[in-house]
Amino acid sequence: MPSKPLVVGNWKMNHDYVEALHLTQQIGVVLKNKSREHVEIAVAPPSVDLRSVSSIIESERIPISLAAQHVSMFDNGAHTGEISVAMLKRLGVKSVIVGHSERRSMYGQTDDIVASTAQTAARGGLEVLLCCGENLDARDAGEHFSFVSNQIALALDGFEKKNLELLTIAYEPIWAIGTGRTANSEQVAEMMAHIRLELNSRGMSDTRVLYGGSVTGENAAELLTSGQAGGFLVGGASLKVESFMAIVEAVDDCYAKNR
Ligand code: PEP
Repeated sequence: MPSKPLVVGNWKMNHDYVEALHLTQQIGVVLKNKSREHVEIAVAPPSVDLRSVSSIIESERIPISLAAQHVSMFDNGAHTGEISVAMLKRLGVKSVIVGHSERRSMYGQTDDIVASTAQTAARGGLEVLLCCGENLDARDAGEHFSFVSNQIALALDGFEKKNLELLTIAYEPIWAIGTGRTANSEQVAEMMAHIRLELNSRGMSDTRVLYGGSVTGENAAELLTSGQAGGFLVGGASLKVESFMAIVEAVDDCYAKNR
């Protein structure tokens, strides 16, 4: 494992700002009772919650960072409905999810848009959680490695070398997202190795590679050790404090034992 594992909770379009505040406070209470020093934690609330979550993280000194679920590929201007990197930075946002399969499939985020968004975010100083992962057809056809390589190549095309350290890759096979069907640890391990080879060939040997797809407190340790994941991007299980902190706890214990 190149660095401390990272666990990111992607709340998607769940929790209004009151619920988001409550969940953030609950996470803070758990971490106050038992600190988790072997894991980095981030939460990605809906955009309208970022201001309140940011304030509570700061005022209660909760040791987690703030991620956004989306950012515009443009710096500013006439882009109705969009949010800029500068706006996110002003709110204390540290990182942003780019290229999530839900945005690719439901909101027309093409590989070109993913690449431009990643570049804009990094240029403005945000860390980029770049998602990749094959659909079931590609997996069944045995084309999952080339599918993911291609996504990474297209996303990194034109990415400024000096910003590469701002990148984290999240491997999220689409067939495992929100389905309860987790990739098994061999499938994760072989994809982690494949992605690391790709990254090494670009001089990115220190880049973290996360796994995402139906991660729970029960499967997290196995996916971290046998699966060799560098942490997790968590959807469904991040919506409740118990299930999210069960993953954090499993990762923290596991990293403390195996490092
Ligand atoms: C995700 O959407 O990034 C995700 C991993 O979701 P889930 O954990 O619910 O599969």
